Amino acid sequence: MTQQPGTSPDSVGQAYDVFADAGATTALGGNIHVGYWDDDPGLPITEATDRLTDLVAARLDLRPDQRLLDVGCGNGLPALRIAGAHDVRVTGITVSHQQLAQADKEADGSDARDRVSFRFADAVDLPFDDGCFDGAWAIESLLHITDQTAALAEIRRVVRPGGRLVVTDLCQRQPFTGEDRTVLDGMLDVYEIAGINTPDEHRARLAEAGWQLLELTDIGEQVRASYGHAAAAFRTIAASLEAPAAEQISAAADLMDAFGKHPHAGYVLITAQRT
Ligand code: SAH
Repeated sequence: MTQQPGTSPDSVGQAYDVFADAGATTALGGNIHVGYWDDDPGLPITEATDRLTDLVAARLDLRPDQRLLDVGCGNGLPALRIAGAHDVRVTGITVSHQQLAQADKEADGSDARDRVSFRFADAVDLPFDDGCFDGAWAIESLLHITDQTAALAEIRRVVRPGGRLVVTDLCQRQPFTGEDRTVLDGMLDVYEIAGINTPDEHRARLAEAGWQLLELTDIGEQVRASYGHAAAAFRTIAASLEAPAAEQISAAADLMDAFGKHPHAGYVLITAQRT
């Protein structure tokens, strides 16, 4: 994994607060993750992002009334969707105050309100008892965390034996080298990313943290269109802003485009179990 020095819960939270202020974290309908297209390339991005959430839910082996942890809950949409569809209880955590406020607002307008709660917490130091969750998921959050193994071990601590963890995350199919490094380094810098793992690094960190791997699939081609959608949305936002925010969001759009077009850019869907 390529490490970005200085990434911390504070710096990640502030980056998301800045993006939220600019309207960028609601640009794609509120989910802050890629869309998934299979045989229907015309599906709107807002529906494709919900489909990714549904892929995660399908792998959690959910039963009504189970208690789940959403590690890096963003604006709360995945938690509300999964709680509503599967009748489970979800606790979502984030390191962004803006997201926490937005997630509470989303919950207020949702039928799943009484099954979902959100709080400010760091994944490497969870304020929960051992084994108190039946399962957990982390959609595009681990990449922000400097010590991913520590976070995975901490998530394992709060999940009961037999419980599942589903992770989706960017991956480098092969390490970005030479001139391509500029794209990767730019992504790490602009999006406050600690590192983008290769599939083997994802496997190794899960194993180090004591998780048993059930499935790791690279769905990079099914999510690839997302980067172009996000870049276009960011450019529209940038056009309505003053400097320096406009330049910041434009640069973020350019990097998103370049990363999304790169053949080494993959995306993993992982299911693991606590033995
Ligand atoms: N999973 C959400 C949001 C993805 S954005 C969605 O799919 O819409 C990344 C999320 O990870 C943000 O909510 C951010 O606050 C969270 N995050 C990053 N580092 C974290 C940490 N150390 N502890 C908890 N959450 C973290």
